Amino acid sequence: MVWDALYSSAFESVRGRIGGVGKVLLAYNTNIDAIKYLDGNDLERRVEAVGKDEVLHYADELPRRIENVGQLLGSILWSIKHGKAAELFVESCSTRFYMKGWGWEELRMGGQVGIMANLLGGVYSVPVIAHVPQLSRLQASLFKDGPIYVPKAGDGKLRLVHPRDFAGDEENCIHYIYEFPRGFGVFDFEAPRENRFIGSADDYNPNVVMRPEFHEHFEEIAEKAELGIISGLQTLTGKNYREPFEELVRHLEILNAREVPVHLEFAFTQDETVRRALVDVLGHFHSVGLNEVELASIMEVMGEKGLAGKLLADDPVDPIAVTEAMLRLAERTGVKRIHFHTYGYYLALTDYKGDFVRDALLFAALAAAAKAKLGDVRSIDDVVKAMDVPVNEKAKTVEKRLTGEYGMKNGIAEIDGYQLSFTPTRIVARPKSTVGIGDTISSSAFVGEFALH
Ligand code: ADP
Repeated sequence: MVWDALYSSAFESVRGRIGGVGKVLLAYNTNIDAIKYLDGNDLERRVEAVGKDEVLHYADELPRRIENVGQLLGSILWSIKHGKAAELFVESCSTRFYMKGWGWEELRMGGQVGIMANLLGGVYSVPVIAHVPQLSRLQASLFKDGPIYVPKAGDGKLRLVHPRDFAGDEENCIHYIYEFPRGFGVFDFEAPRENRFIGSADDYNPNVVMRPEFHEHFEEIAEKAELGIISGLQTLTGKNYREPFEELVRHLEILNAREVPVHLEFAFTQDETVRRALVDVLGHFHSVGLNEVELASIMEVMGEKGLAGKLLADDPVDPIAVTEAMLRLAERTGVKRIHFHTYGYYLALTDYKGDFVRDALLFAALAAAAKAKLGDVRSIDDVVKAMDVPVNEKAKTVEKRLTGEYGMKNGIAEIDGYQLSFTPTRIVARPKSTVGIGDTISSSAFVGEFALH
């Protein structure tokens, strides 16, 4: 099959050249994920201890933030009852203390920066400089070995050290993840599907609080970087976004002056003011990565409601609507590369040309399938273990439409002076893990592209 051959050669090329990539700056969100698998009896006992009257009404309507234990338990019940994910900020110290006492089964690296640092630095051995808002011992222990660095200031100098050598004793930013399976029963609720409720005991990441080293020494940090990936802006609101955005734009101007290409990982941003502000600064970025829901949410604030609707109407997502939306976004903002990923295929629109754009998408698709298949990818050699995962059948109709509409050949077409690159993905039927898979796709493709170019 032509795609199998393209996959193999793309993987070999990236593996051969990824060692040549210089330091990648990753900012801003890193936290600790503490995973608790809920137990129905335990949860009922806890609700009764607080008093059902204090708790149950939150199962119908989520509070805006969590100010007491009753609201925490009620919000967990809301997620179970609706089978929906939700994430709320936990404001009260006593509730944070309660969650700590309740405990967890598993600790994981959290935040897009943390996840990408462990993938790029810990798996691909690409050196990274990470922004970690708070470096506690627990946070530091979740970083893999490898060329992963944080800036440390002292004696008027800035050094790069592994997070464990930073010897930080700062706060723990913990996101408590309460997971339940489909059919999970508590009182007379039954979960219609598996999902999770997240209570964030974290004053730093939701507000994009930046470290002093990044305020005071950003020029020096930027001098060491060859590429940048920005993420973590999705939690900002119309109330608190101005200050971090000012600092973000300052960082981007410094990076742009040094011609460091920067990618924005666009996670779903609830607040429309912030979403608009992100579209307004997109021209400072070289590249942006997003899925269909995120692209539709951008079309909404750009006044393209019809296109937004089309992006969410079909399965697989209509590739012509995606291409049109990417063209509008590129023309409106001047961003040079847009990487779209959905279940079954990826597309990239670039204002430059070459097979390496498609080959980087193929590498990313293999990395995503390896992650889904193995759960943990330990080295770049693990990535090739996904070659036996079948190429998505449904992507054939997508490819046919792109061939008919744009004359696409071997995944590459030219439209209005842009190049459109397409890749059918490999889908793992029973994935071991899909946590952070979007981050795996976007960072592998972005860094892979620069390895090849
Ligand atoms: P998240 O925020 O959970 O990372 P995203 O929507 O950003 O979610 O990324 C999910 C992407 O992961 C999908 O677009 C799809 O391409 C890929 N994906 C999901 N499930 C699988 C799977 N079982 N096998 C391979 N790829 C998958």
